[in-house]
Amino acid sequence: MLGAKLKKRIYNEFNLKKQAEELGLKVWQTPSFLFIVMGFVIVVAIAGVYFISNNYDSPDILVISESVVVSILFIIGNFIISSVDQVARANKMKTEFISIASHQLKTPIAEINWQIELLLSKFPGGLSEKQQLLIGQIAHSSQKMARLVGDLLDVAHIDQGKLALNKEQINLCDIINEAVMNQRPLASAAEIELKYLGSAVPLEVLVDRRRIVVVLDNLISNAIKYTGEKGRVEILLEKKDELVQVCIRDNGVGIPRNEQTDIFKKFFRSNNKMKNNTEGTGLGLYIAKNIIEQSGGKLWFQSIENTGSEFFFSLPLAKA
Ligand code: ADP
Repeated sequence: MLGAKLKKRIYNEFNLKKQAEELGLKVWQTPSFLFIVMGFVIVVAIAGVYFISNNYDSPDILVISESVVVSILFIIGNFIISSVDQVARANKMKTEFISIASHQLKTPIAEINWQIELLLSKFPGGLSEKQQLLIGQIAHSSQKMARLVGDLLDVAHIDQGKLALNKEQINLCDIINEAVMNQRPLASAAEIELKYLGSAVPLEVLVDRRRIVVVLDNLISNAIKYTGEKGRVEILLEKKDELVQVCIRDNGVGIPRNEQTDIFKKFFRSNNKMKNNTEGTGLGLYIAKNIIEQSGGKLWFQSIENTGSEFFFSLPLAKA
């Protein structure tokens, strides 16, 4: 297991073409390539200095050869710093672009949704069945767009370290109840048994209510989406010392072992058999993990392919 991970890491480290594509640089500009060249130059330099000091008595030659080596290392070091600088700047620009673009898209999408609602509420009798169906489809697509834009905005805020949390002390049982209610229609449509085993006593946490509902919506809807028809999804809540732990368990398709390390990466969607039958962006878990960590908690999972998955998160209990 460890051996396979190490092999994959070494392979990725030396796959310069892939690295260059990922970073948007030329192969010779990638930090790994420059480090290899630098290592090579150091080895040659040590051997050269050893050779010169053994064969020439002149200190001038030694000083000149050392100066040449130091200059080469300086130039390579400069390349490494400027390529890292270039990547950091490009990354910052990309995040700013996503943030501005999604901000600008939010208002027109909200307007479309609002006008569709107005149209349906003002003229319900005046629209034919076909027209109502078409408008329903437009509404569905525009709500999907609104969700995507909202997710992109959250991702940009996370990457800029600006995800604001309006924390308040609330009973986690109430938030889970709300999230389970939100997901009931999805579960019923897929004939999935959705079970919530709550706590008899209130479990108070200091969190942003809206954001924790987003986390629960993501985890519960994933459990439903990635569980075939007539499956089972359970939500369990437990107090553990100073923490409260939530588990969302399903008996669905699971996550292949070799993809488990990538699951919290932005835009990553596992190659399981549900990929093509389900809608998704690969942003939900990235956002959920960041919200939980910013709330002082942890989010993790265990999964077995074709058996099911368990996603857990824990949050510190609020001080009485
Ligand atoms: P998506 O929008 O694709 O659902 P997420 O970030 O929520 O994005 O999840 C990333 C990927 O993790 C999913 O595409 C899916 O392959 C996998 N995944 C998440 N939750 C589960 C689950 N409960 N069972 C199986 N696979 C899951």
